[in-house]
Amino acid sequence: AASDHNPRNTATRGWALHQAAAEVIPGGVNSATRYVGHPYAFGGGDGAYVVDLDGNRYLDYHAAFGAILLGHNSPVVDDPVRAAVGALDLFGLGVTELEVELATRVTEAIPSAEMMIATMSGSEATAQAVRLARAATGRQLLVKFQGGFHGWHDAVARNVISRPELAYGRDPLSAGILDSVLESTLIAEFNDLDSVKALFEQYPDRIAGVIMEPIPHNVGALVPTQEFVDGLRALTADHGALLIFDEVITGFRHALGGYQEVCGVQPDLTTFGKGMANGYPIGGLAGPRSLMERFDGQKGDVLLAGTFNGYALGATAAIATIDHLRSNPDFYTRTHALGARMRSGLEGIVSELDLQATVAGFGGVFSLYFTAGPIKGYRDLMRNDDQAYATFHRRMTDAGFLMIPMSLKRNHISGSHTEEDVDRTLDAARDVLASMKA
Ligand code: PLP
Repeated sequence: AASDHNPRNTATRGWALHQAAAEVIPGGVNSATRYVGHPYAFGGGDGAYVVDLDGNRYLDYHAAFGAILLGHNSPVVDDPVRAAVGALDLFGLGVTELEVELATRVTEAIPSAEMMIATMSGSEATAQAVRLARAATGRQLLVKFQGGFHGWHDAVARNVISRPELAYGRDPLSAGILDSVLESTLIAEFNDLDSVKALFEQYPDRIAGVIMEPIPHNVGALVPTQEFVDGLRALTADHGALLIFDEVITGFRHALGGYQEVCGVQPDLTTFGKGMANGYPIGGLAGPRSLMERFDGQKGDVLLAGTFNGYALGATAAIATIDHLRSNPDFYTRTHALGARMRSGLEGIVSELDLQATVAGFGGVFSLYFTAGPIKGYRDLMRNDDQAYATFHRRMTDAGFLMIPMSLKRNHISGSHTEEDVDRTLDAARDVLASMKA
């Protein structure tokens, strides 16, 4: 029954676990956005589905914020990881064959990559990207876009908030971050080249780089115009600044070569994480030899360190994921087709019910904004009706469809979702949206 999925029901093992968690973990979760007003506690996952501690199954579009690319507990990845356990643990000296294999796979797949370093997370990759950009240019300022998220570290922890009423100010979770660091990060408007030009004019010869999600999926899916990405490439090059594509979400998900393969623009630096290893922690930074050699401990000048960097299980999982994507290019045709089916189905429902809503997305990613379009940049999203999204999310969850709880984020179709899953989701969405209209 639908109410079985209700996470607000307090007579559940999930609720009890949340209570226990709140005693020993601040807020009961290990990453702030995992608690959204009522507890979730999962006990397992299988393909496109997750199961909560009370045994309820959900069709999963949250996908661990996109870290699940092929599907939960995919044997494609888990089998080689299992085989690696007990063989290679950690040495802390030299290099393993796995690390070379991984860097080779990534540099073969990513158009702009000649060398790659492995980190443990996307945040570590973007931290190194920013540091490298500053080192290579001898400049200190960084440009990011409102609503873009590049991890939790100080240099990028400015204007990450995707709640419209909190935009453009100091973020509520920014205590402890030096003012000087926050002030070194400048904010521009996505899909608005003039806003970036204005910063280069205001701070001549001071901007080290521009970091961007090529599609800002941390606010759903703002798809860049070709003029915008082409313009940014030219503008950064003209001003001697680096262009950093943060492909932590888009990388390996939208194309084997990331969104840079799709849009044909070569950034100077690219960061990866999330789906790259189908749920195992790993991140990476790639770029041309001339820049990446700054990390060379013998002849370079940028610090690269990390006890667990390139660890065997993450490297094994990433190699297995990338190999699977390389030998199954239909992953992309399938997820793109399912994404298109979902988006056009939702668009049909929106117009059928005459809702003030806009469907967005790319490839296997989709978002439903509760505001009329067109949506070009972040400013358009400030009209979004967060309450309406919260209701939509809650009722979809109750019906067994797990979407991302925050209104301006995105949902992911994995390699395990089927056409039937998409059609069932659309049926449920029609019922929920009709009930919201009533
Ligand atoms: N970059 C982007 C685009 C992200 O969405 C995220 C995480 O949400 C990160 C970087 C940070 O990655 P991690 O959470 O692995 O540190």
